[in-house]
Amino acid sequence: MSRINGFVGRRDFLRQCVAGVPLSVYTAMKFAGVGGFAIGGSLLWQKQQAVALQAAVADASPANPNRISPKDALERLLDGNQRFVHQKRKYPDQSLERLRLVAKGQYPFASIFGCADSRVPAEIVFDQGLGDLFVVRVAGNVVNDMAIGSLEYSTAILGCQLIVVLGHRKCGAVTEALEEQPAPGRISLIVEGIKPALERVKLRTGDIQENAVIANIQYQAEKLQESSTILAKLIRKGQLKIVGACYDIETGKVSILT
Ligand SMILES: [Zn+2]
Repeated sequence: MSRINGFVGRRDFLRQCVAGVPLSVYTAMKFAGVGGFAIGGSLLWQKQQAVALQAAVADASPANPNRISPKDALERLLDGNQRFVHQKRKYPDQSLERLRLVAKGQYPFASIFGCADSRVPAEIVFDQGLGDLFVVRVAGNVVNDMAIGSLEYSTAILGCQLIVVLGHRKCGAVTEALEEQPAPGRISLIVEGIKPALERVKLRTGDIQENAVIANIQYQAEKLQESSTILAKLIRKGQLKIVGACYDIETGKVSILT
């Protein structure tokens, strides 16, 4: 991982962070490929691993030397979106020099958890470049274990202090969830992940699709926080903020939900 990640090798990260973790767990983590990303093993072992990772994160002091506060990160994103909307893009951080620099290590300033929709590519709509954003995308921005793990990594280990849950108007996954008929294959998993959000708006007046999109962003943002002790702990410590935002596919504008 030290080669992939550049700035903090997994052994270094563990050395910095896992004081107090039983050696057996440390060894298991080391051989398994570290904190949270190993697959397999007994339930007990997995529990031990989870405890060890949480202990590690609790004491973590990420090595990112350029940590950007949630407020500044959000401002940087919204400035970039303004440039995109007004067609005044700067295409920052896309040079060969930047490519070579980030090859040595990544320090993304924000994490985006967005819908996989082809019309909402994060780096373009926020006018950012290489190494700027840690992007996780799932249809309907539905929270699942892999997304949570990825975002725990970007925050607890890479040092991002902002996660934007980015839904968008006319989201096909939300439309599918509003349908009565069951969805085919594993699309049903996405639909089931959105349905609890729809409960919140079924009695609300106005455009049901618009209401459902907003409710889904808020629901997934809450679920992200509630499902991860690591993220919740970072929020309590003032080292992370999760905000919901909606992208308008007709104007290109991102609006923060309050
Ligand atoms: Zn969508």
